[in-house]
Amino acid sequence: MSFLKESVNRQPLADAVFAIAAKAKEDKELNGPEHVVDATIGSLYGEDGKLVALDTVYDSLKNMDNRVLAKYASSFTGNPDFKEHMYDWGLDGNSSLAHDVVATPGGTGAVAMGIDEFLEAGETIILPNIAWGSYKLMAQMDNLNIETYEMFDGDAFNLKSFKEVFEKVMVRQNKLVIVINSPCHNPTGYSLTDEEWAKVVEIMNECAKSVSVVLINDVAYIDFAYGQKAAKKYFRAFDKISDNVVVEVAYSLSKSMTSYGLRCGAAILLAQQQKTIDEIVTVFAKDARATWSNINNGAMAMFVDVLDNKPEEYNAERQKYVDLLQKRSSTFIKEADEVGLSHYPYKEGFFVTLNMDNKTRDAYHEALMANHIYTVKVNQGIRVAVCSLPVSQCQGLAAKMKKILDTVQ
Ligand code: PLP
Repeated sequence: MSFLKESVNRQPLADAVFAIAAKAKEDKELNGPEHVVDATIGSLYGEDGKLVALDTVYDSLKNMDNRVLAKYASSFTGNPDFKEHMYDWGLDGNSSLAHDVVATPGGTGAVAMGIDEFLEAGETIILPNIAWGSYKLMAQMDNLNIETYEMFDGDAFNLKSFKEVFEKVMVRQNKLVIVINSPCHNPTGYSLTDEEWAKVVEIMNECAKSVSVVLINDVAYIDFAYGQKAAKKYFRAFDKISDNVVVEVAYSLSKSMTSYGLRCGAAILLAQQQKTIDEIVTVFAKDARATWSNINNGAMAMFVDVLDNKPEEYNAERQKYVDLLQKRSSTFIKEADEVGLSHYPYKEGFFVTLNMDNKTRDAYHEALMANHIYTVKVNQGIRVAVCSLPVSQCQGLAAKMKKILDTVQ
């Protein structure tokens, strides 16, 4: 006998990251941290091996009146000043579309709310074949089917596969809901070029002649893109969407503000018509009220305070870590290329992923652990979290990993 609803999947959650991170921790305790490479942790760590918590962010939070931290948000969709700042900061002036913002518990809340409200159970969501694992879980919880597009054609975004999947799904439903995680794709570090974005919009517009199209653009890592402000220029491509296309930009303060546990982010909704946005926000507001009710008031107030009162300090502090991330990733990639350790096209962001078939991956993952190197298995690859590896551990790592790979191939 079960007390759960019939339709729910009862398989226990197998979280690939937490389980391996626990093994790495155990190894560090047993053999000493200097003998272990823990490339599992997907948060930004400093060279001291500790989680980065930006001073500008936490000074702001700790200086708040207790009542600001204690109280409810002023609206289920988020505080008005937060929403304005979120739109301005998030898109950096690169949009002339009708818009609105709904505050969410992190980027997770934004993506999940979109997936919940745009599709009926039994319909199909379109995801990248290599992706953050939570998308699949969200689809499973909503009883959705999944179709995937191939991320890459050589070193470029696979527009052909993208289009083919659209055509396949359009035959069976009158709506396309697609997730693109760019810039700084988790787990490969890929970012679509402006030309690729223009093509994506062209393909969506073509399909939108017969079905409605929703693009969920997950930008969780955007504020660590190496081009910084230039990385937000691609939003301009969305200005060309047709009336039958909606874009939901899923923003996460977890990375932008190093505030993972404060659970704050936003769904930034864009469309040609304000009435399209208003209809979606009406439902998102009810969804918010019915699930998380309202978002952490202190986190929203902190975001507004940082951007109003110390934007230069915040930018400078963040830039220091963008530079550090770039140093780590370029060290690893340069050596990987030298020794012939194959990886997906990396441009920027927290992770580099080695490409291989799943059989090799499974054997390799075990062999790496036997050599005290902890990574995360993803579809057709091994994820190396350079975001949490000190530069000294990035040095020489690719050569070590290549040697181990040669033993399993
Ligand atoms: N999207 C991607 C690709 C992620 O990797 C993550 C976090 O790991 C998120 C969204 C959401 O993070 P959060 O809910 O903490 O904002």
